[in-house]
Amino acid sequence: MKKNYDSEFKEIVYKEGYTLMTPYKTDLSKVILSCPKRHKYLVVPKCFKNGDRCPFCSIKSIGCLSKINFEIEIVKSGYKLLTPYVRNAIYVGVECYLGHYRQVTPDKFKHDKRCPECDRLKKKA
Ligand SMILES: [Zn+2]
Ligand SMILES: [Zn+2]
Repeated sequence: MKKNYDSEFKEIVYKEGYTLMTPYKTDLSKVILSCPKRHKYLVVPKCFKNGDRCPFCSIKSIGCLSKINFEIEIVKSGYKLLTPYVRNAIYVGVECYLGHYRQVTPDKFKHDKRCPECDRLKKKA
């Protein structure tokens, strides 16, 4: 059975005092929300669920979009994320497709996706 994510998201938005202005499609397709103070802004539903709120009202944003981008980058590079992303400068645990574990900051990972353990094995061979 298909869950009705549209009304589920609407409900979350409504509970926070926000209004959904455009139809919800997927967690990653942007919608327009109106905040309790009637600011309209574009947001990725997944970010709203993760706690990101109106950028005009809250100075503090948890940077959810960079989190999503990092998670996508991890998957694209064939890695697995083992600990949750917090910030670009905070270490996370990742595993390469051969199962080598390492700790790296998202910042570093963006510039160097190679697994040091795999590199070592390649040199040996
Ligand atoms: Zn607002
Ligand atoms: Zn490896």
